[in-house]
Amino acid sequence: MVISMIGAIDIGGTKTITGLADQNGQILEQIKFESCTENWETHFERCAESLSKLCKRHQTETSGLKGIGISLPAMTDSEKGILVYAPFSGWRDIPVAEWFARRLNQPAVYVENDVNACALGELKFGHGRTYKDFLWITVSTGIGGAVVADARLITGWHHLAGEFGHLKVERVHPRRCPCGQEGCLEAHASGTAIGKAFQEYLLSNPEAEQILKAHPYPVDAYGCRMLAVKGDKGAMEIYRQAGRYLGIAIAQAVNLLNPQAVIFGGGVSASLDLLEPEIRRVLEKEAVHQAGRAVFLYTALGYEAALAGAAALVP
Ligand SMILES: [Zn+2]
Repeated sequence: MVISMIGAIDIGGTKTITGLADQNGQILEQIKFESCTENWETHFERCAESLSKLCKRHQTETSGLKGIGISLPAMTDSEKGILVYAPFSGWRDIPVAEWFARRLNQPAVYVENDVNACALGELKFGHGRTYKDFLWITVSTGIGGAVVADARLITGWHHLAGEFGHLKVERVHPRRCPCGQEGCLEAHASGTAIGKAFQEYLLSNPEAEQILKAHPYPVDAYGCRMLAVKGDKGAMEIYRQAGRYLGIAIAQAVNLLNPQAVIFGGGVSASLDLLEPEIRRVLEKEAVHQAGRAVFLYTALGYEAALAGAAALVP
């Protein structure tokens, strides 16, 4: 048995993972299940049962853990341990830390927004061992961001700092963003946006049927990537455009913050090879002096960065 294991819960919009981690953020064992978005108490109960089960398998109880970290796809007040608002489910004002503390007989429960948790996980267990000033960017279904400066997460007055996905990048032909505004980075370069552009490309291209017959990929960001790496000009252009928009936003961020590194996480970031040349080209033009020379890295925490991030919340 590892002394002082950490409990980690990553509640996502579609799936939830519970896990036990050691002091280095290594996940010892995990359980994955569907998120129930209707009733928060039902879902929290499943999370609690799942974590208890893991503890039993490792000959301990939740009260014997060093603490429990919980990452949420929501605006959170980490000081009070409260979920403020979760767009994916409509949950509001839930005392998450208090609920789990009572249910699991464990007073040390920490709560954080998932993107911030990823950045904290990276800081504690990943590239943060080398870089103390970095911008974290999740490019997935949506786009999220977090700012780490001098080894500290910048949260801002209302815990809204680092809302990178809502920097405005398109004024002439802006698309509507899920946040209600227009021209946001998320509306132009997220996995959803790339998938939509891919769909439009296939519909407007008379050879689309042939393309899809030859390559039966899904009509989403992943399918677009697969065609792009095969040299399809239209698919490559979609990634070039997404890279351009990311470049515009990153240029603004590095001009403001001058980070050492930009660290990417999320499924679409696995296509950094397709995105980076255009991001670099924009930075060359729009970033001031050396600010554009920030190192680009893919997260050291892998695909389930938010689970390691949840573990990182426990001091
Ligand atoms: Zn937006």
